[in-house]
Amino acid sequence: MSNLPKIAWIGLGIMGSPMSENLIKAGYSVTGFTLEQDKLDRLAAAGGTVAKSIAEAVKDADVVVTMVPASPQVEAIAYGTDGILENAKSGALIVDMSSITPQTSVDLAKAAKEKGLRVLDAPVSGGEAGAIEAVLSIMVGGEQADFDEAKPLLDALGKTIVLCGPHGSGQTVKAANQLIVAVNIQACAEAVVFLEKSGVDLTAALDVLNGGLAGSTVLTRKKDNFLNRDFKPGFRIDLHHKDMGIVTDAARNVGAALPVGAVVAQLVASLRAQGDGGLDHSALLRAVERLSGAEL
Ligand code: NAD
Repeated sequence: MSNLPKIAWIGLGIMGSPMSENLIKAGYSVTGFTLEQDKLDRLAAAGGTVAKSIAEAVKDADVVVTMVPASPQVEAIAYGTDGILENAKSGALIVDMSSITPQTSVDLAKAAKEKGLRVLDAPVSGGEAGAIEAVLSIMVGGEQADFDEAKPLLDALGKTIVLCGPHGSGQTVKAANQLIVAVNIQACAEAVVFLEKSGVDLTAALDVLNGGLAGSTVLTRKKDNFLNRDFKPGFRIDLHHKDMGIVTDAARNVGAALPVGAVVAQLVASLRAQGDGGLDHSALLRAVERLSGAEL
């Protein structure tokens, strides 16, 4: 019998599936629940246990990991009679890895405490590839003791794992992360259109750019998306739209001006309004192409 904590995993999407599989590979027993049957089948094939409900998934778990799209889904799985707070065993630790508003994380921590449960907000960066390779950056908010307890588990999922401060701090850092990533993708997309219209060999140009100060993880990870116009997600524009809303709102609350972020938030919103919400966020290239008169 393993003496590792027993894990419940709620939300087995693009990120949750490979992350939970990394825990299974590391020897953890994982019981999962998500909305799509094919994702549940994938968990079973990887050696996990499939639950029929959130209540069933969490009832014996020492740690409940959640990885769902946004604040409304976190609230839906946490609260209510079938939710995590009503059904997890006393003392369990909830590690919410979804990217949500900092206030939702603060409220969840408070509600959980009243039920004798503990919470960390632990959103991630690194994308689907980072999830598969277990090299995510994980930005954590909450108590030091809970962080120390979760650290071995997080080590099986990521490479850079940092406690950023009290509840909600992980989400605030993640919001900043999404600002930087969106602006970086937008700059790369503008460079791609400029280079192509100038008749320069794009593969050569991106290779040399990535070796200098213009290089970035975004360029490394998204170069092939740009070159092949392959916008299969990855990270959906719909989710980045949500994140630009989070960072814009959080910045306004603290009196921080984000002029470039505000423009990129509008470009993301426009891309979504044109029907591209289900594409990878590297599809910001399509917005620049449209603005530059390209036929898509
Ligand atoms: P996804 O849409 O692929 O997966 C979300 C999963 O949540 C789905 O499988 C769905 O079944 C499940 N879910 C939703 N509501 C549920 C409910 N009520 N009960 C049980 N399961 C429920 O999303 P994703 O790309 O995996 O992203 C998850 C989170 O991670 C988001 O907050 C996103 O912003 C963040 N994130 C994503 C990436 C990425 O590259 N995809 C990178 C970093 C962070």
